[in-house]
Amino acid sequence: ATPSAVLAAIGAGARRGVLIRGGEYLEACSKIDTVVFDKTGTLTLGDLHVTKVVPFCGRTVEGVLRVAAVAEAGSEHPVARAILDAAPEPGSHAADATEMHLHPGGGIEARSGEARIVVGSARLLALTGIPLPEEARAVRDTLAASGVTPVFVAVDEEVVGVIGLQDRLRPESVEVIERLRREGIETIAMLTGDHEVVARRVAAEAGIPEDAVYAGLLPGQKQEYVETLQTGGRTVCFVGDGTNDGPALARADIGVSIGSREDTVALETSHVVLMRGGLAELPDFLRLGKRAARTIT
Ligand code: ADP
Ligand code: MG
Repeated sequence: ATPSAVLAAIGAGARRGVLIRGGEYLEACSKIDTVVFDKTGTLTLGDLHVTKVVPFCGRTVEGVLRVAAVAEAGSEHPVARAILDAAPEPGSHAADATEMHLHPGGGIEARSGEARIVVGSARLLALTGIPLPEEARAVRDTLAASGVTPVFVAVDEEVVGVIGLQDRLRPESVEVIERLRREGIETIAMLTGDHEVVARRVAAEAGIPEDAVYAGLLPGQKQEYVETLQTGGRTVCFVGDGTNDGPALARADIGVSIGSREDTVALETSHVVLMRGGLAELPDFLRLGKRAARTIT
């Protein structure tokens, strides 16, 4: 592409709310053969709601939500926002926790008085040395089978409840994926830190085959997956929302983030930001780059 074609394309992108951070990312568009999506907040709305709470050990639903909210008060994750919304007396938990420790892609650990609270995935329980009782495992499997994301709540080594959260596919996801296939993208995959069964359901709805779904991944493992594809000769566009996928966005040949409210991480680590139209702008952005590359006068 000529410099003037690149400049014109960057300008055309800007008018549509597509921020392109350099001509090289437009040039790369015509080489992209693989598009990898993050799940939560990217293919889905990331607008989670608590749909089910199963308490154990003589606790109540409210009690489980309250203790989870104490730990989550310090997190911006969609899971945290949903729990804080569902908990009794929303907004009054911020003062309760001390020593908060975030585990990206896993959950959160906090201290409240003498108690240690852990809220997160089975992997986080294992990591923090909390045994997962058969009863809690069974609840998790039932929730996941119906497409609900399970999150465990533990107090002092004891799992006191499971919280189920529901997300929705973005209305535009199916069409965007169809269009990418029509326009010649060979491989489309989805990566997520969520439970495998939930991940497969979302992928099926979006039109992504089971063998292209990778679940239970930490942020670093999303990046490694992108690297593996690149080592295998692929040119990769990674599409994410900046939550727990910053390293993958940065590593991709083109890291595209969906612009949203407070995502400073995405702005820093991605190469292209779909500020206004969001995910729906992705196919047009790739086409814009291809067209600019063909312009020789
Ligand atoms: P995705 O990869 O789909 O964007 P994330 O990596 O952000 O999802 O989160 C993956 C999983 O980690 C969630 O499904 C949840 O089990 C757990 N998790 C992440 N953050 C939190 C949190 N603040 N509280 C509880 N669980 C969390
Ligand atoms: Mg995400």
